[in-house]
Amino acid sequence: MLKEQANQILARLEENGFEAYFVGGCVRDWLLGRPVHDIDICTNAHPRDVMRLFPEHIPTGLQHGTVTVKQGDALFEVTTFRVEGNYRDFRRPDEVQFVSDLTEDLQRRDFTINAIAMDRAGTLFDPFHGLADLRQRIIRAVGEPKQRFAEDALRLLRAARFAAQLGFEIEPLTYEAMKQSADFLPRIAVERMRDELNKLLNGAFPQQGFRIIGETGLLRGYAEWGLPKLFASAETQAWRLVHLTTLPEKWSLLFYAAGSRQRQTAELTHFLRMSNKEQAEIGRLAALLLRVAPEWDRPESVKWAPLLLNVGRQRCLQLASLLMACWHAAQPTDLHTEVDAAYQQLPVKTLQDLTVSGKDLQLHLQKKPGDWIGRVLQALLVQVALHGLANRPETLLAAAKKEVERDAYQT
Ligand code: ATP
Ligand code: MG
Repeated sequence: MLKEQANQILARLEENGFEAYFVGGCVRDWLLGRPVHDIDICTNAHPRDVMRLFPEHIPTGLQHGTVTVKQGDALFEVTTFRVEGNYRDFRRPDEVQFVSDLTEDLQRRDFTINAIAMDRAGTLFDPFHGLADLRQRIIRAVGEPKQRFAEDALRLLRAARFAAQLGFEIEPLTYEAMKQSADFLPRIAVERMRDELNKLLNGAFPQQGFRIIGETGLLRGYAEWGLPKLFASAETQAWRLVHLTTLPEKWSLLFYAAGSRQRQTAELTHFLRMSNKEQAEIGRLAALLLRVAPEWDRPESVKWAPLLLNVGRQRCLQLASLLMACWHAAQPTDLHTEVDAAYQQLPVKTLQDLTVSGKDLQLHLQKKPGDWIGRVLQALLVQVALHGLANRPETLLAAAKKEVERDAYQT
């Protein structure tokens, strides 16, 4: 379907006398039989011709020669053959220069497996022998590796990330250059590094990525943030990671395994410019794991009810995933079902289920509003849910009175 739509773009360019090819990740993934989510097209047509031929377009990256073309309900990046100028700041080329030759365009690409083009008939253009490297499961820089990493240090992490996604090895000269070039990595924007690390964590072979990061010292420029240490201890966690589905779960497992303290976790997730929501989620999950994992080391030792009342169903389900990943080899068990069963059994589940509100407590006890309200309500919830206290207003108000008279609430 996607390919059909992309084919129409290629056809239209060809009908107008231009060359056009599928290129990069989509060709690589088709050849490997992996799912393809986006299709990139390269052409000798100038961006202004692309825009003229495809009225439904978005000029997304004209400075790089890229026009996003809408075809049916899908979007495709159509990029004019180009070479890149000097890489003065090691992040972005100073200028792009359009060229007429496909091989020149392929030459600027990072790895041979990403430098294969394919025309509409399925003919491959593979001047750097990417197909042979795909067959041998090798990641090899196009051209002189040291120079390619110096031009753009992101490629260092891309190499590790492709290895983690594909389970490939890195070709020896490329690998050697990675070891020598690791100090370039801090030149790239943190966000770009984070995106690559996320893709690495989501790969099917994360252990491959961790090993490469360790052996090449790739993250050594981030020692003050604890990244090398985090990824060193991650190596022992790789087999667990693949049983987790979400990134916050994966990151929190790494922090937990590295023995990271709450503040270190917060600092590093902040440094990686994760969203506030992700930072909070990872922080809470890692702390929760730290709290319960030492005791909850087998299915029989898990007690969901109090935790459900404390942190809610959603977080308990995430914790269940993490625990299952931690135990996986030894004890296959479906903790999600247990969380839900425990949840169903709770006679009251949240503060809203109580027959008194914070306002009622305040009026009845004649106290100034404050954080005591939340704590008392939480205590009532636990008593009703787990200790048979009746969920009736007069009973709850009396219990609340007793609760505030305890020392802990005398402020
Ligand atoms: P995926 O989209 O699955 O992550 P991809 O190979 O498509 O992988 P993209 O980042 O989408 O990667 O880039 C598309 C293509 O552009 C790559 O296949 C490669 O040919 C080229 N490319 C991307 N980033 C770089 C880079 N930093 N240096 C050189 N070439 C690059
Ligand atoms: Mg892509």
